Amino acid sequence: MKKDIDWQNLGFGYIKTDYRFVSNYKDGKWDEGVLSTDSEITMNESACVLQYAQTCFEGLKAYTTQDGHVVCFRPDLNAKRMADSCRRLEMPVYPEDKFVEAVEKTVKANLDWVPPYGSGATLYLRPYMFGSNAVIGVKPAEEYQFRIFTTPVGPYFKGGAKPITLRVPDFDRAAPRGTGHVKAGLNYAMSLHPIVDAHKQGYNENMYLDSATRTKVEETGGANIIFVTKDNKVVTPKSNSILPSITRRSLMYVAEHYLGLKAEEREIYVEELKDFNECALCGTAAVLSPVGEIVNHGEHICLPSGKEKMGPITQKLYDTLTGIQMGRIEAPEGWIKVIA
Ligand SMILES: *Cc1c(COP(=O)(O)O)cnc(C)c1O
Repeated sequence: MKKDIDWQNLGFGYIKTDYRFVSNYKDGKWDEGVLSTDSEITMNESACVLQYAQTCFEGLKAYTTQDGHVVCFRPDLNAKRMADSCRRLEMPVYPEDKFVEAVEKTVKANLDWVPPYGSGATLYLRPYMFGSNAVIGVKPAEEYQFRIFTTPVGPYFKGGAKPITLRVPDFDRAAPRGTGHVKAGLNYAMSLHPIVDAHKQGYNENMYLDSATRTKVEETGGANIIFVTKDNKVVTPKSNSILPSITRRSLMYVAEHYLGLKAEEREIYVEELKDFNECALCGTAAVLSPVGEIVNHGEHICLPSGKEKMGPITQKLYDTLTGIQMGRIEAPEGWIKVIA
């Protein structure tokens, strides 16, 4: 039976659900993994994750489609991206097929927590891994835990898709050959001060530049960025230090194959910002959030799409991608994993 929750008014916070998947890595191999009712973790005070932040994560959603199925969106890409993160952080890869199986098991065990179709809410899944044994000299852990918990969430931005304001901060997010392209907790730890500061100054998010030249747009702390040009081309920054968003890759495909628009990944210079028609952030949590204004050290760039609603192309992209996810529009082969 579905949980007694006011699905329409859910926020974006942690709510404990019944089961989480837990697998341990020891003596060079992963165990079978179990579904556990225990949401607490106990580990040594000198665990590698606590001292040296050896941890990475993923984020994806399960939701109820129009015809009543429970599905996930492209979990194979989360599996692959987590494997890439693990390799960069000297952590053991959790096999990609096992990852997708674990996602399936975890959602099935928490079906009562999957919000109903039309509520705007979804079941957020958080796969993650961390080095758990004690280290004091700097080296990778020898024991790891891989877990997936779920939590029901409402829309990321309460009050719908009101355009937000970005600022170009004086902080950098990622170095050219650093860890910006992997989903490591450490990328978020260092973003906390810039985001708290941005909020204090009245901005919604930071738009980070490339740290080598500070002339090119990269992304925000937790979302990629897309732009629409004056001639209706969808463009997104190309850089080795951007986290490869699955939402962004899907939107670029939708632009080209569903909307018949040109879509291009290329370097985007700060000077070009004033020439764009639309701008939006993209990621699993919010799908797309429109940007109304970008502030770069006293220069105010107001997007022509304005501050009241999404631009027309952003809206089409949003409607098409969420339509595909919710089963209202036919999905490309392999995008939708039916779980129940
Ligand atoms: C997770 C994340 C995104 C969004 O990726 P999705 O796969 O679309 O959810 C974008 N930027 C950063 C830094 C991220 O960590």
